[in-house]
Amino acid sequence: MTTPADTSTSRARTVLPLRPELADEVPYGAPQLDVPVLLNVNENPYPPSDAVVATIAREVAAAAAGLNRYPDRDFPALRADLADYLAVESGVRVAPEQVWAANGSNEVMLHVLQAFGGPGRTALSFAPTYSMYPEYARDTHTRWVTGRRAEDFTLDVDHAVATIAEVRPSVILLASPNNPTGTALPRAVVEAVLDAAAAIPAVVVVDEAYAEFRRAGTPSALELLADHPHLAVTRTMSKAFAAAGLRLGYLAASTELVDALRVVRLPYHLSAVTQAAARAALAHRTELLAQVDALRAERDALVDWLRAQHHAGRPLQVAETDANFVLFGTFADRHAVWQGLLDRGVLIRETGPDGWLRVSVGTPAETAAFKDALTDVMREQES
Ligand SMILES: *Cc1c(COP(=O)(O)O)cnc(C)c1O
Repeated sequence: MTTPADTSTSRARTVLPLRPELADEVPYGAPQLDVPVLLNVNENPYPPSDAVVATIAREVAAAAAGLNRYPDRDFPALRADLADYLAVESGVRVAPEQVWAANGSNEVMLHVLQAFGGPGRTALSFAPTYSMYPEYARDTHTRWVTGRRAEDFTLDVDHAVATIAEVRPSVILLASPNNPTGTALPRAVVEAVLDAAAAIPAVVVVDEAYAEFRRAGTPSALELLADHPHLAVTRTMSKAFAAAGLRLGYLAASTELVDALRVVRLPYHLSAVTQAAARAALAHRTELLAQVDALRAERDALVDWLRAQHHAGRPLQVAETDANFVLFGTFADRHAVWQGLLDRGVLIRETGPDGWLRVSVGTPAETAAFKDALTDVMREQES
């Protein structure tokens, strides 16, 4: 008779040859807590309709019938659907060969770092910004450098251009609208960065994860693609498209840039099931995006409401936002405010510069719950 080995003790002293720079690292992730009001990760609060679910189920079933075969490595049909969607959304028409996709835009950006970063190379961004960027750099052995955003969370052109010339990055990451601030960059700023980058040369990624929520008059960097072969604009189905669980992110760029990404991707990285579900969802784009206008209106109303609130004798500060979330503050003890909200069943995100908090825009009922809880917490703190 054999007894199962007690692996926990017998292997406890085995030393793993972990890369030293990973020794103190922990896996990335926002807390996933089971509370009634989830306003912490910028999801679309509206689940897909029965009609959308039915189409996805039908298309996934059809794909399942062929699962003994590997999926199409270059997924031309999905890339054509994504190109069509971008044309409708932004008025900019790109060829399917100019589109790339992966399991979330996180993976798309990892592909960019794999192709254009690497040992001896540098990736540059401007803080505060998305906390995943330094992880892509770390995981691809790329040096990571941050400049800073201005007081209002936009980018000072002189600072950006000088930093690019000094750091000589091979990849520049600009989120617009930015996370966690919500700030979109004016076209002139992006153009100045593109010009400075061309001189290095560097690839410029404009991360437009929240582009569909931008206010009227805010441009998309897609409009700059035609003249800038070193520009990549990333998008995702995780936010406005109400499909965070699908894991489908994509990018539009020059064919030359996309072809470089095709070299570094793992073969068959996008499963046949994902391709089928994504195409089914895109066929219902009007329906899935139907709530975007309501969410934008809800956001603007939430910004106005927050600006009318007072804390510690002064009005709350609220960052300008073109996204589906709002950064507000400042609080001497933001953790206490975050915890107070959580105690009342509302989960938001403790992120951004010191003293600030970020709340995603939810349904009207969720926003109301957030406002009630915040009012309560601030009153408690004043007393
Ligand atoms: C949410 C988010 C993404 C999207 O990530 P996915 O991998 O597509 O879900 C990308 N960039 C920023 C700044 C984000 O906030």
